[in-house]
Amino acid sequence: MPGISHPSPEIFPLQAHPLPATLAQWQDPDSQGDYFSEVQTTPAGYLVWSNFPVKIYIEVPSPPTNTSVAWVNAASDAIEAWGAYLPLQTVDRPENADITIARRRPPPERSANGSFRARSALTRYEFYTRQGENNAEILAHRFEIAISPTQTGDYVRTAILHELGHAIGIWGHSPVETDALYFSQVRQPQGISVRDVNTLKRVYEQPTRLGWISNK
Ligand SMILES: [Zn+2]
Repeated sequence: MPGISHPSPEIFPLQAHPLPATLAQWQDPDSQGDYFSEVQTTPAGYLVWSNFPVKIYIEVPSPPTNTSVAWVNAASDAIEAWGAYLPLQTVDRPENADITIARRRPPPERSANGSFRARSALTRYEFYTRQGENNAEILAHRFEIAISPTQTGDYVRTAILHELGHAIGIWGHSPVETDALYFSQVRQPQGISVRDVNTLKRVYEQPTRLGWISNK
């Protein structure tokens, strides 16, 4: 899960944003727990969105075929599913997107012995700055999700749901098979679990430099 750093994220204050209403309302009466301890922080803090709705662009494979229509439907379903917990919106133009989901072969992974291994999916982020009011600099991030065309059927649904979970802020993996962010791909499709949402809520309670105006 590689990321690119802004040259100096430390000029932006590290503080928590108010919870979006969807997460503020979230309650787990059964205390099913979370895997927040597995979520990584970054030089910018936690990968929290604060400008809602988060805009998502689905790169439509061309030419359109039955497979590509099914693929777009799977991506739309994943956006709708996570959208119950965080405000998300599909946009028509890639340049306006915070997150891009593409059906594209991800670059291969280099293993410790130097050989290359195909990946089924890759999610990457980068930091950039945008202009706020009075030309103030705001630290921002964007995500790109590449899902391999070799993924089909239930696998593609599970993969997009999982990768989108990373992009909305769960930058880590669950050790429990019934969570969408389980570290390994499972045959049986999993929806979003209570533990996934508990984890997401904890992430959004954390401090971040993203979405804040520079101290300088
Ligand atoms: Zn993952």
